[in-house]
Amino acid sequence: MIDVRSDTVTRPGPAMLEAMQSAEVGDDVLGEDPTVNALQSEAATLFGKEAALFCPSGTMTNQIAIKLHTQPGDEVLCDQLSHVYLYEGGGIAFHSGASVRLLAGDRGRFTASQVRANVNSASDAHYPRTRLVTIENTVNKGGGACWSLDEVRRIRGACDELGLALHLDGARLFNALVARGESPRDYGALFDTISICLSKGLGAPVGSLLLGSREHIARAHRLRKVFGGGMRQAGFLAAAGRYALAHNVARLATDHARAAAVGSAVARLPFVAEVLPVETNIVIFRLGEASEEQALLAHLRSHGVLAATMGRRLVRFVMHLDLAEDDVGALIGAVSSFH
Ligand SMILES: *Cc1c(COP(=O)(O)O)cnc(C)c1O
Repeated sequence: MIDVRSDTVTRPGPAMLEAMQSAEVGDDVLGEDPTVNALQSEAATLFGKEAALFCPSGTMTNQIAIKLHTQPGDEVLCDQLSHVYLYEGGGIAFHSGASVRLLAGDRGRFTASQVRANVNSASDAHYPRTRLVTIENTVNKGGGACWSLDEVRRIRGACDELGLALHLDGARLFNALVARGESPRDYGALFDTISICLSKGLGAPVGSLLLGSREHIARAHRLRKVFGGGMRQAGFLAAAGRYALAHNVARLATDHARAAAVGSAVARLPFVAEVLPVETNIVIFRLGEASEEQALLAHLRSHGVLAATMGRRLVRFVMHLDLAEDDVGALIGAVSSFH
């Protein structure tokens, strides 16, 4: 089967497995795993942050960050398409007891003036205290849309003026960096905390990193324990992450080129109403009134393709490192033969 449901479906190849097997390990709960420690310090340096923490998932790194920056009753500003709001099991309420104000951005990207317009007055006891802004780059539900670094700078300026923390859900940040020719340090300089997934386009089997100041990461280390995310000989997993950062970043451009080719082929199909602009490795398209997403998914499955839906008449294809060049043509062939 050609599996384009997500870039999380990849399996470690021989070289990554070899790196995992030969990893030096120790008990990371005691801070004694040299491979975890190396991954954390390499990632912190890459982003120009003081420290990093290796965690089992991106959901955990995001939720730890939200907990770091808020107290119960505080308010978080994020886009209505945000993963932290839609796809983390209600974690903002569950873990942090915080309320959320949703912003209506352009494919998940809002502006500094939207932030300013939605911050509550701290001196009026009626309102929850606005404490945190979270940004997602790339925006999954926005079809892999990338933020403009200039707008992020303006949002940082607004956060500084208004006393707000700024967190980045960078599950697919490396896709944005490669697509836009930006550097990790550009982002490291603007955010209080950054969450990075090693298990999406970078191809590691497990693992995410939270980046921040030494003080934030010390508190995050305690929260990771509270959340049940302390891992013992985690160096076997961290070795896959180190391998991914060293070998699988530049090749994301291949995924982006393939997504662009698939997006333009899909845009020509008569039963497709709209394709979201393809900027990175995600293709999301909306079917016309006469078509049902489940019918297309069943058709694709019978033609050897696994795809996902993102809602009514919305279908998503995600490119990743386990696809072969032939798979792209086969995927286009399978979707084109619908109806
Ligand atoms: C995948 C993803 C996450 C984290 O997901 P986990 O499966 O918990 O690692 C967070 N944000 C976005 C935008 C994602 O796509």
